[in-house]
Amino acid sequence: MSQQTESESRKLLGRLRDALADHGEGQERLDRITALIAGSMDTHVCSIYLFRDADTLELCATEGLNPAAVHQTRMRLGEGLVGRVAKTGQLVNSANAPQERGFRFMPETGEEIFTSFLGVPIQRLGETLGVLVVQSKNAREFSDDEIYALEVVAMVLAEMTELGAFMGVGEGMTARHTHQVLIRGVTGQEGAAEGQVYLHEPRVVVTNPIADDPHAELGRLHIALDKLRLSVDDMMTRVSAGEKEQMEVLEAYRMFANSRGWMRRMEEDIARGLSAEAAVEKEQSAARARMGKVPDPYLRERLHDLDDLSNRLLRILTGQGRETGAEMPENPILVARNIGPAELLDYGRSLKGVVLEEGSVGSHAAVVARALAIPLVINAKRVTTEALNGDAILVDGDQGLVHLRPEDAVANAFRDKIAMQAQALQRYASIRDKPARTLCGTEISLYMNAGLMADLPSLEGSGALGVGLFRTELQFLVRNKMPRRAELASIYAGVLDAAKGKRVTFRTLDIGSDKVLPYMKPTEEPNPALGWRAIRVGLHKPGVMRMQLQALIRAANGRPLTVMFPFIAQQEEFVTARDHLLRELERERSLDHVMPSSVEIGAMLETPSLAFAPRSFFEMTDFLSIGGNDLKQFFFAADRENERVRRRYDTLNVSFMGMIEHVVARCAETGTDLSFCGEDAGRPVEAICLAAMGLRSLSMRPASVGPVKHLLRQVDLGHLKTVIDSARQQGAQTVRPAVLAYLAKTI
Ligand code: PEP
Ligand code: MG
Repeated sequence: MSQQTESESRKLLGRLRDALADHGEGQERLDRITALIAGSMDTHVCSIYLFRDADTLELCATEGLNPAAVHQTRMRLGEGLVGRVAKTGQLVNSANAPQERGFRFMPETGEEIFTSFLGVPIQRLGETLGVLVVQSKNAREFSDDEIYALEVVAMVLAEMTELGAFMGVGEGMTARHTHQVLIRGVTGQEGAAEGQVYLHEPRVVVTNPIADDPHAELGRLHIALDKLRLSVDDMMTRVSAGEKEQMEVLEAYRMFANSRGWMRRMEEDIARGLSAEAAVEKEQSAARARMGKVPDPYLRERLHDLDDLSNRLLRILTGQGRETGAEMPENPILVARNIGPAELLDYGRSLKGVVLEEGSVGSHAAVVARALAIPLVINAKRVTTEALNGDAILVDGDQGLVHLRPEDAVANAFRDKIAMQAQALQRYASIRDKPARTLCGTEISLYMNAGLMADLPSLEGSGALGVGLFRTELQFLVRNKMPRRAELASIYAGVLDAAKGKRVTFRTLDIGSDKVLPYMKPTEEPNPALGWRAIRVGLHKPGVMRMQLQALIRAANGRPLTVMFPFIAQQEEFVTARDHLLRELERERSLDHVMPSSVEIGAMLETPSLAFAPRSFFEMTDFLSIGGNDLKQFFFAADRENERVRRRYDTLNVSFMGMIEHVVARCAETGTDLSFCGEDAGRPVEAICLAAMGLRSLSMRPASVGPVKHLLRQVDLGHLKTVIDSARQQGAQTVRPAVLAYLAKTI
């Protein structure tokens, strides 16, 4: 880049700043800017298009096109060259625009006489806000320098749009972050909540995108980069060698912090007249725009690292910390790009809901949100760019929807839904201390699933008889290093204390597949759900499992101990796991520790193979618990994490019902206790069908105990079984329609 183009560019930005500083309406500002750019770049036309809604762009200002077309000419996303720039986020540079694919002729603008076209996206943090276009009559390709200059201008326009500098009469010129926005995400945890946005990572605001003195700005950038590098080095010294994944992220940080390419691009932006922070943000925006298009998850992660690093650099430059001083609102709904389980746990139950831009159903954050019983929506695209601290927000975890700044009608309808749920809760509270006895007099034992100390207070309120599944991995997932035996023993003892004598079934560590411990060496597996997970890890490397078993024995300290092993696929795995427990009991006895008053050892039935295990297996296990989430995924060969298939097969499908029936019969033969602890146990219709098939014990999320009990108390299992059997005889694929029809008739 020549000195001359640099100073031309700086001059243009300088004039742009003057144009922006002048008083006047947004429209006047935009008009001045288009005239200025056309003049500086020596083009016949300069136009600015801004989004009026998510799909439509509006011509908001022009120099050179017919002025009457302003606010009249509109373009759909993807339509014409302007629509293409907006849709792809990529510039279009053409010496012969009318011949370009997708060119759209708009007679009202009189544009057919303009041959060359350069359009660049007006982008902020990867979000396209509009399109900046220059056109000329003569056929010319715009040079790299010209493109760059226009991109820099577009960046400034984006900042100023965000700051509300272009508000006016056109639909495209309404203030940002004021409209109602509906974001469709994916259910992470059911439930509905109304509250105000609380941003986990508040955005840095750049108020001075243009700077006069490039030397001073370069100096500021270099000082900030030095500080950044030092802080990364400092973080590295604080991470111990065992914390490999964290170390990898920091290595990536260090690489970016020292990247010459990154620094050079920012230096060039500054030479063009941007301030240091605007230069950082311009490159961050470009990286974000790439992020969505990179298919490789590893590279996408690295772009995230660069994004995080840019945020750090911006904070150093602007002095704006993580804390913006924004107070936690009364009903906080946490909005974040993503969040770790420990951080989410820190917020705890003060949150009314959580909305994540990324995340997955099986992510650790989702597991914690479930444990905290707060509605969670994941994959809520662009929520962190749309939402401002304090914005009104409705989270519909059932549908995976987020209403940001909802209009009254939407908010009222939503409140009705919450009120109905609250009424139902009251109804459930009234039967809390009553048994889950069906009309035919069968009593079903309802237990709750838990995984954190925070879950235990629900034991009393929910009416559950105890904890049917305590997922011990959560204690491992929320830490950044392996917990120690004494720590675990004290947590488990706390759980037993809180249960006040009610039965608690501890499941040993179930890691692998989607549950990866941050401090354990990640293993590359072609198919993790079918790989080295749960009991397979426990038996292959028994050190951690044995330590956990010791902690459990010590926690019991004279009280009954109930342990089950996850993901047992064949008898020999159970035998070996049980031997480990028996050996640890012996060892603890020899060390003079107090023994549990009784020990029950069970297995989770999560693979179809175990349903066909030898009779001796059913005889030796004290109890079995069907892990329906995994059993269903393996029975139907449908990944429980994969949105495309995970809802494809109905639990009430006759094949799955047949499987359940078979397991019930096998357990009946040997008198083995059987329960069901997958998510389906907490769905009332599924739960009554499981009971009709012979299950007498169900374990579910605490919030489901009430609804399940409520329905159980209204059905006759004998009648229901007849309905199910007759649907099966008639060749139904699923018994659901018949069951629903029966319920509609009888309840
Ligand atoms: C299951 O698979 O049904 C189960 C209860 O275990 P998890 O969901 O923890 O895999
Ligand atoms: Mg499971």
